[in-house]
Amino acid sequence: MRIYNGFSVSNGIVYGKVVTLFYEKNFIQDKISDNEKEREIIRFENLLSSYLEVDRVKVDDKKLENLLNVHIELIDDPFLKDTVKNKILIENKSLEKAIEETFGHICFELNNLDSDYMRDRIYDYISIQDEFIRDLTSDEEIEIYENKFILFTENLSPKIIEKYKERLIAIVSKNGGRTSHASLYAKNLQIPYIICDSLDFQELKNKNFDCILDCNQEKIFLNPDDETINIYKKLLKSSQKEFLDKNIVRTKNNRYVRVCSNISSFEEFEVSLKNGTDGCGLFRTEFLYMSSESPTEEYQFKIFKKLAQSTDKPIVIRTFDIGADKKSKFFRLDEEKNPFLGLRGFRIYKEFYKELRKHLRAILRASAFGNIKIMIPMITTLDEVLWIKNEILKIKDELREEKIDFDENIEFGIMIETPASVFLFDILVKEVDFVSIGTNDLVQYMLACDRENSKMQQLYDCYDPSVIRSIHRVVDIAHRNGKIVSMCGNFASELDAVELLILLGIDEFSVTNDVLQKIKKKIKLFDHNNYLDFFDNINKFKTGRSVINYFDNK
Ligand code: PEP
Ligand code: MG
Repeated sequence: MRIYNGFSVSNGIVYGKVVTLFYEKNFIQDKISDNEKEREIIRFENLLSSYLEVDRVKVDDKKLENLLNVHIELIDDPFLKDTVKNKILIENKSLEKAIEETFGHICFELNNLDSDYMRDRIYDYISIQDEFIRDLTSDEEIEIYENKFILFTENLSPKIIEKYKERLIAIVSKNGGRTSHASLYAKNLQIPYIICDSLDFQELKNKNFDCILDCNQEKIFLNPDDETINIYKKLLKSSQKEFLDKNIVRTKNNRYVRVCSNISSFEEFEVSLKNGTDGCGLFRTEFLYMSSESPTEEYQFKIFKKLAQSTDKPIVIRTFDIGADKKSKFFRLDEEKNPFLGLRGFRIYKEFYKELRKHLRAILRASAFGNIKIMIPMITTLDEVLWIKNEILKIKDELREEKIDFDENIEFGIMIETPASVFLFDILVKEVDFVSIGTNDLVQYMLACDRENSKMQQLYDCYDPSVIRSIHRVVDIAHRNGKIVSMCGNFASELDAVELLILLGIDEFSVTNDVLQKIKKKIKLFDHNNYLDFFDNINKFKTGRSVINYFDNK
């Protein structure tokens, strides 16, 4: 383990893989011949126009947008342009050398000014220079690294943040100032960021280091030891805890994919743990309501607590999902003409409010004993999500008053099983910590096709492009909002679908015990490089058959 001290630009604690971004400086050519001058000027004009025309950083706040785009004004400066051109035309400098010398001169002048604010402008110039040279001299992109990562770069610019912001969990740069535009942008996006000038970037390149970044203590831990990891375990967000669990498999491209279990009893979970599960992605609680008696809060609490204490891995408890195919002696719902379109899942909660409250209290109380999360089935509207969240808040208040422990930060998720939840997902996503796609129901509702009717089996197709597009939409929106997507429908247990689901970006498979290890094995063998054309095809698949053919032909 190595520890470095830096200074923090923004706050946060993260754990992740280091990915380095820097260019080799030593091959910049110094002089050019007279007949190369015109070519260098054209290269410069092209470079400028690519920055001036398309490089605006766009954010919702207009004032902030202008601030973040000050670097464009710095580029669009007659002094800068003329100096670079003169160096090419009069001094026979290569474009790269002319840029380096011009920016060097500007920074030297700024450094002589007696103002911290102006000195921070140096970092803006350095980051622009870095980008110019990187654009001109190398095609180096960040290698295909599908997981989120901590970016280590010598100089940071708003453009780099913009380019990688969906996958960045934190930033470390060697140079920089607290008020540089890149720093303001990182702060605005709440990306933890430390500046540390003692790091040797050459040494870090391609080493795939693990890193804990603690912006509160202003420390960077490279390859942290077990003791340090344990100290930070509690402080880290659950989305990063996956890096700490050695059992979690990753693809050949370093993407971690959690494989959890679908269970409906403690005994099944014991088998899962022996099988090497990464947690429980779906605990079906309907068994509690199979007899005609109402299960007491205490009875439920004991079951959930036992589960929580059996592991430190996450356990997703789905609140009771009664109705349609899931009959219950206790609830005795009225006969309906279309039970699958009637009272089921969330939709019975208001009617059976007392039962819901007992159930939620038991789950919340058990959350004090392990890593429990709550998940709600059959969500259709935003109001449903807001209503249940409010019920959970009310129970939390009650427990606090009663001085009963529970996990204050218990994660809240919903199942994506209805087309409405798919199409409203850009709104629903703001209200949840995670989601799980229930393909058993999603396919039946998407294709208007009874999941239990054997005559419908041909139409009931998980590979149908409408289903694939739904999954793609949910994952895309979830990831843009920093949320995890699990899949607990049977599609996740289909061995032939593993590659497709990894490509679609599923973070967690929740599967039956019989296939758990087989799926882990397939994830380890998965190489993204074999499917580079997948996203070109994703909107071109016309039938389920064509999706299957794509994978058969690989
Ligand atoms: C689903 O619908 O995919 C799901 C996991 O829930 P259930 O099968 O219990 O309805
Ligand atoms: Mg379902």
